[in-house]
Amino acid sequence: MDKIRIAIDGPSGSGKSTLAKKLAKALSLVYVDTGALYRSVGLYAMRAGADPKSAAQVTALLDDINLELVYTDAGQRVILCGEDVSDLIRTNEISMYASSVSAIPAVRRFLLEIQKKMAANGNVVMDGRDIGTVIMPDADVKLFLESNTKARAHRRYLELLEKGHNYSEEEIYKDIVKRDENDSNREIAPAIPADDAIFLDNSELDPDQTLEAAMDIIKEKLKRKK
Ligand code: C5P
Repeated sequence: MDKIRIAIDGPSGSGKSTLAKKLAKALSLVYVDTGALYRSVGLYAMRAGADPKSAAQVTALLDDINLELVYTDAGQRVILCGEDVSDLIRTNEISMYASSVSAIPAVRRFLLEIQKKMAANGNVVMDGRDIGTVIMPDADVKLFLESNTKARAHRRYLELLEKGHNYSEEEIYKDIVKRDENDSNREIAPAIPADDAIFLDNSELDPDQTLEAAMDIIKEKLKRKK
């Protein structure tokens, strides 16, 4: 069979990474989490004391940033200037930094090549905000995963709690609304569905039901491609 490429876009907390990991396992694909790249740039900016909204300040740092994606049995690891930051970038602060730096055109250009390279390898499922529109406009299947804000905030809350972070659900809800607004209104690569994306609302679905619904869409789409 030809190499498969699946794009998953959608807002924060819609369960993209949970679904992508399950799809990767079910279909023997590599899961590329592109948010980790933006988060790593956000972490670098935070450590450098840069204003994440300042294009000039963040752009000036890019020459010093070296990012690598490494794939192990435990999944993707992101290496920032030689340091494995995969776990460090999963905080709410870094989510907000990532959202700010991701609106800077030079940052998106900087991260384009590494993502295009992963896309070109094939047999991938990539998740992000502009995968179906910019990174893999010719993906075999483009899913746009949605769920209502309350469900998304609740999931994020549980996820962060499990990782030992103690944020209130209300705080997370507010941050998600802010991130949605930043991500969908930015001028460059806004988080909008591709014209040929298939919507999947999982507000009422658990991860396994979401996987099942996604598999049905994928099978149907691949059948029609043959
Ligand atoms: O997906 P995740 O929540 O880890 O992404 C963190 C932030 O990175 C998002 O809020 C978004 O601003 C940005 N991002 C992006 N384009 C992508 C992936 C993530 O702009 N392809």
